[in-house]
Amino acid sequence: MKSAAGLILSLLILLLVSQAVSAQVKPPRETALDRFLRYVKIDTQSKEDQETVPSTKKQFNLANLLVQELKSLGVQNVRLSEYAIVYAMVPGNLPDNSKTPVIGFISHMDTSDAVSGENVNPIIHKNYQGGDIVLPKDPTQVISVAKNPLLKEMIGDDIITADGTTLLGSDDKAGIAEILTMVDTLNQNPQIKHGSIAIAFTPDEEVSVGIEKFDVKGFGAKFAYTVDGGELGEISNETWSARTTTVTFHGKSTHPGTAKGVMINAMYALADYLARFPRGMLPETTEGRVGFVHPYAGTIDVEDSTLKVLLRDFEDSGLDKKEALLRRMVQQTERKFPQVKIAIEVKQDYKNMKAALKDYPQLTENALEAARRAGLKPFTKAIRGGTDGSNLTFRDLPCPDIFTGGHNFHGKLEFNSLRGLEKTTETLINLVQIFVEKSQ
Ligand SMILES: [Zn+2]
Repeated sequence: MKSAAGLILSLLILLLVSQAVSAQVKPPRETALDRFLRYVKIDTQSKEDQETVPSTKKQFNLANLLVQELKSLGVQNVRLSEYAIVYAMVPGNLPDNSKTPVIGFISHMDTSDAVSGENVNPIIHKNYQGGDIVLPKDPTQVISVAKNPLLKEMIGDDIITADGTTLLGSDDKAGIAEILTMVDTLNQNPQIKHGSIAIAFTPDEEVSVGIEKFDVKGFGAKFAYTVDGGELGEISNETWSARTTTVTFHGKSTHPGTAKGVMINAMYALADYLARFPRGMLPETTEGRVGFVHPYAGTIDVEDSTLKVLLRDFEDSGLDKKEALLRRMVQQTERKFPQVKIAIEVKQDYKNMKAALKDYPQLTENALEAARRAGLKPFTKAIRGGTDGSNLTFRDLPCPDIFTGGHNFHGKLEFNSLRGLEKTTETLINLVQIFVEKSQ
């Protein structure tokens, strides 16, 4: 009796183990890390104030490579636009794909123009054991625990940095690597069910012009996610509402030798105006959900001086108040310099995507659930900035943002990690399955 029961028990265990093995996910052909290391070495820095999209031709180098890689993954309808936007479609593997909405995933190829992205030399700090990370080519560049408390949760992880002379380019090549590794994993695991997945890789996100050339209709998705965020678990369905103000001061220039009673020097009016900005309402004195006004550029000249000011707030009413303040300041300066003509012009840049996304709460909920299933503690966070998704959301492609695992964007201290890349990829794979579960 005893031995028969033992035999049944061991048979049961064998059955359970074999089921567990068959339920396991087969690894992708190439890891997210290997893809990431290849992409960051390709210089794709974009440039402000160019006439063309892409702003730099070199962004085509990565775009062309991604076209090849998408094709070799068997993805359909891979195409590259004249603006260096890569589009592709992964067909669904469901008995009836029409029941599940087409999900889009978007990442950008360019890197910030704040720091060089040439000859990026990624360094893997294997099995991180705590402490500050000194970047080898420039020991003044230190990723400190004091300024990056999340490092304390990364013990044992492999941390990826640049060498101290460039940015890393995790923003947003991590997103590209994670999306392609998701596709690769789905290829290797036909048992994972998913609807059709539209993919796009965009240029010139950092200079805010690439997305204007985005073909929403041709993309073919009902909604999308930009994979362009920061720390693991961070989902963003809210961005700034943004306006830019240009204030011009018009005076009169003459030869200084004969200027008495004739010259009107516009510079003094500009200086007076600038001195009126409230200290407590500037980017350097605000954080969290508090908006700001930011004089950031201008020209000074006797005859014409101009000042450009960014207005940022999460609420339109907050933006209206800031705009009213800037107009009142114009009146005050005019009273002091009645001979200087002052004009103020306001342009809407983009709007908080939350206003449009509130009609699609399932997009945020499903992303949170996907991260939870990857063992993360997800949370929503309002971005003190804009994303390509803020533009797309108002062109009828609702588009929240998902984390990439990256930190310290746009600088030499940028980093990501093996776990960051893998957990984000896992989250994307979970997400496509959640949409199947909710639609079938
Ligand atoms: Zn980015």
